[in-house]
Amino acid sequence: MKTELVASYTFHTGWTEESLMVISHFAMTRNLQFRLFGLNSELIWDSGKMVGDQNRGSRTGSKVPLLKNGVKVGELETIAGTSQYYEHEQQFLALFNNLLWGSLFFVLVGVYFFSRYISNGISAPLLSIKDAAIRIQKGNLKHRVSIEGNDEEIVEVGTALNHLAESLQEQENLRKHLTADIAHELRTPLAIVQSHIEAIQDGVWEPTPDKLKLCHEQIMRLVHLVSDLEKLADAENPMLKLKPEAVEISHVIHEAAMSVEKLWAHKNIRLDLTGVKPVILVGDPKRLLQVFVNLLNNAFKFTPEPGTIRVAVSEETDWVLTEISDTGIGISSDELPFIFERFYRGEKSRNRKTGGAGLGLAIVKAIVEAHGGQVSVKSEMQKGSTFTVRLPKSLKQSASYVLQKS
Ligand code: ADP
Repeated sequence: MKTELVASYTFHTGWTEESLMVISHFAMTRNLQFRLFGLNSELIWDSGKMVGDQNRGSRTGSKVPLLKNGVKVGELETIAGTSQYYEHEQQFLALFNNLLWGSLFFVLVGVYFFSRYISNGISAPLLSIKDAAIRIQKGNLKHRVSIEGNDEEIVEVGTALNHLAESLQEQENLRKHLTADIAHELRTPLAIVQSHIEAIQDGVWEPTPDKLKLCHEQIMRLVHLVSDLEKLADAENPMLKLKPEAVEISHVIHEAAMSVEKLWAHKNIRLDLTGVKPVILVGDPKRLLQVFVNLLNNAFKFTPEPGTIRVAVSEETDWVLTEISDTGIGISSDELPFIFERFYRGEKSRNRKTGGAGLGLAIVKAIVEAHGGQVSVKSEMQKGSTFTVRLPKSLKQSASYVLQKS
């Protein structure tokens, strides 16, 4: 400070305002009182005056000469002690510090409880979701998470888990149905053939054309079942090789209609193809034919006489839509989610002696999806069903299906 003070002194102007500022600043920040004296020991500046220190006159301190370039230019008296101002300031600082620590403490306690409250709000539902996931993993597929009253994200996770459990349960039910259905499908024709052959071998029955025809029918049923299984395995194969070409959808539909109509010629059902427009798309014609054969076959099978089946083609920018509507028995809302599953047969179909093995729609779905399309259904009991096949006009090379140049 002494150096700065001396530096502010010039022989020309003497002690300046700057010199007094230096003294004042040091006095205030160091809790000291300074007195600056001139060459004749006259008092030039007393920092005690500035802060209103009432004891300023009564105290004395050590005086040091101030030298500039070796020449004495004044004296500085430094008086230690606490000014009233400084005391107030210290009291204020202490109070301020106490308040600061106090509020910091309250803030920390608040933050602690708030974060516990928040984390409980988040972790409690997450823990119940985790608990539900473990139960589901262990096979308790009936367990569901309660999702009400939680944050939006938690509700979404809970809903997704509940959906997962539901679809796992559906698959589980389907698997149980499926095994029973395969066994049933195989057992009936095999039992008929076995009993007929044994009766003929034992000489109980003559091998009449009627008896042989029945055996043949049952064997054909098994042949169809195996053929359907093969088609399905093929269509569901992720390495399915589509042979795409430009296909006129109306040609495919007419071809399918012809072959199916022949099978159902005995039934009084009108097939209306007036809504079939000629639209070109890229696809595998043989497999698309299979799609329409299966859908038309079902329409004939599940439509009581007299009935009507209508096929209509419409187009959107990149899509071709084919609707196959019938005036048939309809599909109940309980059955709708399952009809595209393998081996799923509706109650009505299961009770029949003849009919498919519940593979037709699974084949349709697999082929349509291999083309990058979708198949959907709307149905009303006793009124009829409408199947909609939505196919893209141009095939896109998908990762799961391989396209092959024919
Ligand atoms: P399948 O015809 O061999 O029984 P599908 O996979 O073709 O098997 O059909 C599955 C089930 O969907 C059928 O058992 C039937 O209950 C229902 N279904 C399919 N198409 C129709 C339709 N047009 N009308 C009513 N029910 C249908």
